[in-house]
Amino acid sequence: MSEENQTKPAVGASGRKIIYDKDGKPCRSCNTLLDFQMATGKVPAPVTKDKYREDPPDVERLGNSSWTFIHSLCSKYPEKPSTQDKAEINGFFNVLSRMYPCTWCADDFKKYLKDHPLDNSRQ
Ligand SMILES: Cc1cc2nc3c(=O)[nH]c(=O)nc-3n(C[C@H](O)[C@H](O)[C@H](O)COP(=O)(O)OP(=O)(O)OC[C@H]3O[C@@H](n4cnc5c(N)ncnc54)[C@H](O)[C@@H]3O)c2cc1C
Repeated sequence: MSEENQTKPAVGASGRKIIYDKDGKPCRSCNTLLDFQMATGKVPAPVTKDKYREDPPDVERLGNSSWTFIHSLCSKYPEKPSTQDKAEINGFFNVLSRMYPCTWCADDFKKYLKDHPLDNSRQ
Protein backbone atom coordinates (compact mmCIF):
# COMPACT_ATOMS: atom_id res chain seq x y z
CA MET A 1 0.00 0.00 0.00
CA SER A 2 1.40 3.44 -0.86
CA GLU A 3 2.08 5.93 1.93
CA GLU A 4 -0.70 8.20 0.59
CA ASN A 5 -3.31 5.45 0.89
CA GLN A 6 -2.51 4.57 4.49
CA THR A 7 -4.63 5.99 7.27
CA LYS A 8 -2.63 8.56 9.16
CA PRO A 9 -2.49 7.71 12.86
CA ALA A 10 -3.59 10.57 15.11
CA VAL A 11 -1.85 9.29 18.24
CA GLY A 12 1.51 7.56 18.54
CA ALA A 13 2.76 4.68 20.62
CA SER A 14 3.86 7.15 23.31
CA GLY A 15 0.30 8.46 23.67
CA ARG A 16 1.27 11.81 22.15
CA LYS A 17 -0.59 13.34 19.21
CA ILE A 18 1.28 12.73 15.95
CA ILE A 19 2.41 16.02 14.42
CA TYR A 20 2.33 16.30 10.63
CA ASP A 21 4.22 18.94 8.64
CA LYS A 22 2.48 21.18 6.13
CA ASP A 23 3.35 18.67 3.38
CA GLY A 24 1.33 16.02 5.26
CA LYS A 25 4.33 13.94 6.25
CA PRO A 26 5.06 13.14 9.92
CA CYS A 27 7.43 15.77 11.36
CA ARG A 28 10.67 14.06 12.37
CA SER A 29 11.73 16.52 15.07
CA CYS A 30 8.24 17.28 16.43
CA ASN A 31 7.47 13.63 17.31
CA THR A 32 9.28 11.09 19.45
CA LEU A 33 11.39 8.72 17.37
CA LEU A 34 9.06 5.85 18.23
CA ASP A 35 5.96 7.79 17.15
CA PHE A 36 7.69 8.94 13.97
CA GLN A 37 8.60 5.35 13.11
CA MET A 38 5.05 4.27 13.80
CA ALA A 39 3.57 7.06 11.67
CA THR A 40 5.88 6.28 8.76
CA GLY A 41 5.01 2.60 8.89
CA LYS A 42 8.48 1.51 10.00
CA VAL A 43 8.71 -1.16 12.61
CA PRO A 44 10.16 0.39 15.75
CA ALA A 45 13.30 -1.23 17.06
CA PRO A 46 12.25 -3.59 19.87
CA VAL A 47 15.40 -2.88 21.85
CA THR A 48 15.79 -0.22 24.52
CA LYS A 49 16.52 3.01 22.73
CA ASP A 50 19.93 4.57 22.97
CA LYS A 51 18.94 8.18 23.44
CA TYR A 52 22.42 9.45 22.65
CA ARG A 53 22.41 7.87 19.21
CA GLU A 54 19.19 9.36 17.87
CA ASP A 55 19.93 11.73 15.05
CA PRO A 56 18.26 14.14 14.72
CA PRO A 57 17.06 14.22 18.33
CA ASP A 58 13.36 13.64 18.86
CA VAL A 59 11.03 16.10 20.60
CA GLU A 60 11.77 14.70 24.08
CA ARG A 61 15.53 14.63 23.85
CA LEU A 62 15.58 18.02 22.14
CA GLY A 63 13.27 19.39 24.86
CA ASN A 64 15.30 17.89 27.76
CA SER A 65 18.55 19.29 26.39
CA SER A 66 17.06 22.66 25.51
CA TRP A 67 15.45 23.12 28.92
CA THR A 68 18.73 22.22 30.62
CA PHE A 69 20.48 24.81 28.48
CA ILE A 70 17.78 27.49 28.94
CA HIS A 71 17.70 27.04 32.74
CA SER A 72 21.51 27.12 32.92
CA LEU A 73 21.58 30.25 30.78
CA CYS A 74 18.95 31.99 32.91
CA SER A 75 20.70 31.01 36.15
CA LYS A 76 23.76 32.93 34.91
CA TYR A 77 21.79 35.98 33.81
CA PRO A 78 22.96 38.97 35.91
CA GLU A 79 20.94 40.33 38.83
CA LYS A 80 21.63 43.78 37.42
CA PRO A 81 21.74 43.31 33.65
CA SER A 82 23.30 45.92 31.40
CA THR A 83 21.49 47.35 28.39
CA GLN A 84 23.54 44.95 26.27
CA ASP A 85 22.59 41.95 28.45
CA LYS A 86 18.91 42.84 28.05
CA ALA A 87 19.18 43.24 24.28
CA GLU A 88 21.09 39.99 23.94
CA ILE A 89 18.70 37.89 26.03
CA ASN A 90 15.78 39.31 24.02
CA GLY A 91 17.63 38.47 20.82
CA PHE A 92 18.38 34.96 22.05
CA PHE A 93 14.74 34.17 22.85
CA ASN A 94 13.55 35.73 19.59
CA VAL A 95 15.94 33.54 17.62
CA LEU A 96 15.07 30.47 19.71
CA SER A 97 11.35 30.94 19.13
CA ARG A 98 11.93 31.41 15.41
CA MET A 99 14.51 28.69 14.80
CA TYR A 100 13.83 26.03 17.45
CA PRO A 101 14.23 22.83 15.42
CA CYS A 102 10.72 21.52 16.14
CA THR A 103 8.43 23.73 14.05
CA TRP A 104 5.35 22.99 16.09
CA CYS A 105 7.17 23.77 19.37
CA ALA A 106 8.62 26.97 17.89
CA ASP A 107 5.15 28.23 16.94
CA ASP A 108 3.90 27.40 20.41
CA PHE A 109 6.86 29.12 22.04
CA LYS A 110 6.41 32.23 19.85
CA LYS A 111 2.80 32.48 20.97
CA TYR A 112 3.84 31.96 24.61
CA LEU A 113 6.39 34.78 24.42
CA LYS A 114 3.82 37.06 22.81
CA ASP A 115 1.36 36.37 25.66
CA HIS A 116 4.09 36.43 28.35
CA PRO A 117 6.73 39.00 27.36
CA LEU A 118 10.20 38.25 28.67
CA ASP A 119 11.11 40.03 31.93
CA ASN A 120 14.77 40.84 31.27
CA SER A 121 15.10 43.33 34.14
CA ARG A 122 16.74 40.80 36.50
CA GLN A 123 17.61 37.11 36.85
C1 LIG B 1 11.24 26.15 23.63
C2 LIG B 1 10.56 24.83 23.78
C3 LIG B 1 9.27 24.64 23.29
C4 LIG B 1 8.65 23.39 23.39
N1 LIG B 1 7.42 23.23 22.88
C5 LIG B 1 6.80 22.03 22.94
C6 LIG B 1 5.51 21.87 22.40
O1 LIG B 1 4.90 22.82 21.89
N2 LIG B 1 4.96 20.63 22.47
C7 LIG B 1 5.62 19.56 23.05
O2 LIG B 1 5.09 18.45 23.10
N3 LIG B 1 6.83 19.70 23.58
C8 LIG B 1 7.45 20.91 23.54
N4 LIG B 1 8.70 21.06 24.06
C9 LIG B 1 9.32 19.90 24.72
C10 LIG B 1 8.76 19.72 26.17
O3 LIG B 1 8.79 20.95 26.89
C11 LIG B 1 9.61 18.73 26.97
O4 LIG B 1 10.96 19.12 27.01
C12 LIG B 1 9.54 17.32 26.39
O5 LIG B 1 8.19 16.94 26.22
C13 LIG B 1 10.22 16.31 27.31
O6 LIG B 1 9.49 16.26 28.51
P1 LIG B 1 10.06 15.84 29.91
O7 LIG B 1 8.88 15.38 30.70
O8 LIG B 1 11.21 14.90 29.74
O9 LIG B 1 10.50 17.18 30.60
P2 LIG B 1 11.81 18.11 30.50
O10 LIG B 1 12.24 18.36 29.10
O11 LIG B 1 12.86 17.58 31.42
O12 LIG B 1 11.27 19.48 31.13
C14 LIG B 1 9.91 19.86 31.13
C15 LIG B 1 9.69 20.97 32.14
O13 LIG B 1 10.57 20.88 33.23
C16 LIG B 1 11.23 22.13 33.42
N5 LIG B 1 12.64 21.92 33.67
C17 LIG B 1 13.47 21.13 32.96
N6 LIG B 1 14.75 21.25 33.44
C18 LIG B 1 14.67 22.13 34.47
C19 LIG B 1 15.63 22.70 35.37
N7 LIG B 1 16.93 22.39 35.29
N8 LIG B 1 15.19 23.59 36.29
C20 LIG B 1 13.90 23.92 36.38
N9 LIG B 1 12.94 23.43 35.55
C21 LIG B 1 13.33 22.55 34.61
C22 LIG B 1 11.10 22.92 32.16
O14 LIG B 1 10.96 24.28 32.43
C23 LIG B 1 9.86 22.36 31.53
O15 LIG B 1 8.75 23.13 31.88
C24 LIG B 1 9.34 22.30 24.01
C25 LIG B 1 10.62 22.51 24.53
C26 LIG B 1 11.22 23.75 24.43
C27 LIG B 1 12.61 23.96 24.99
